[in-house]
Amino acid sequence: MKSRVYFIPVEGSDSLQAINKKLKRLLDESSCLDFVRKKDNVAVKLHFGEEGNTGFVNPAHVRVICDGVSQKGGRPFLSDANTLYRGRRLNSADHLKLAGEHGFTREACAAEVIIPDDTKKENVVSVRIEGKFIKNAKLARIFIDTQAMVAVNHFKGHILTGFGGALKNIGMGCATREGKLAQHCDLAPVVHADQCIGCGECEKVCPAGAICIVDNKSVVDSSKCIGCASCLAICPTMAMFIDFGAGDKVQEKMVEYSLAVLKDKKNKVGFINFAVKINKECDCWGMENPRIAPDVGMLASSDPVSIDKASFDLVNKACGKDIFKSTHPDQDGLRQLSYARDIGLGSLDYELIEL
Ligand code: SF4
Ligand code: SF4
Repeated sequence: MKSRVYFIPVEGSDSLQAINKKLKRLLDESSCLDFVRKKDNVAVKLHFGEEGNTGFVNPAHVRVICDGVSQKGGRPFLSDANTLYRGRRLNSADHLKLAGEHGFTREACAAEVIIPDDTKKENVVSVRIEGKFIKNAKLARIFIDTQAMVAVNHFKGHILTGFGGALKNIGMGCATREGKLAQHCDLAPVVHADQCIGCGECEKVCPAGAICIVDNKSVVDSSKCIGCASCLAICPTMAMFIDFGAGDKVQEKMVEYSLAVLKDKKNKVGFINFAVKINKECDCWGMENPRIAPDVGMLASSDPVSIDKASFDLVNKACGKDIFKSTHPDQDGLRQLSYARDIGLGSLDYELIEL
């Protein structure tokens, strides 16, 4: 069965106010927040952006979404789980501070910002699913205990999953460190010694202390590696390699995590994709990275598979080619969508309703 995906185009020249006006129209005409009931606690699941990256969804747009939730009688709060790797989002205190520096404050967004500390047992929950890989998904409890959720997703490229949208934000983004590790753990890189110049950049960037330089060459301890791929990104000579065949497995695990998050939230989650500022890499990267596509627009749906497929199709249409395959030739990002369809998370067939 086809799912409905509502779409409103955005031009690169649109002002912030103009985009907010369009967003409000999208929320109103798609009825995508109608699932919110009075007094529902509503998690607005976001990525606040790593330090040095500006790809994240603008807090002014998030304010429009929070106001929409409040108008339905819900109680919105903004949240994300901490990361696996080194950076400003590794622990709750720093993460919260960085979110504030990026403009995500109670005052700006009319919603509390809550970053759960997953080093505390009471903030972690294990959700049982019968996945091919995952049996007990380790999730931040806040996303399970909340009555409803709006997933606000920046649609962009990704080194491990080809592209990232709603499924990535939910599956990877709601997982605790342990859960993120479970999704990444098949990805220890190998070093091609003839290409390694011993610069030590990979050692500096490795968040797991898995790399050391021996005899002027990088050596990876795969037992410590968390598969974050930071060393690949930094290496100036492309001496680091990952078996990207494992990328399919990461996508499938991520989708199984999405299933765990959404398991008990039937008709209680809305998805909003921002296909603007479409970068080559994820907002986790602590640096700017190239735009690979023009701004396309904003989408809303109750189906995470359909909204990501529609975003993928619209971006590629604007580029005149599969831009995600062009920029990440080793990854087939569509695997996440077909697997999500196969395990019942949504439909690949959608009806696009342009506003
Ligand atoms: S992928 Fe590279 S940077 Fe990341 S943990 Fe493994 S060795 Fe370290
Ligand atoms: S960043 Fe690349 S070239 Fe530099 S030490 Fe690491 S593997 Fe070798």
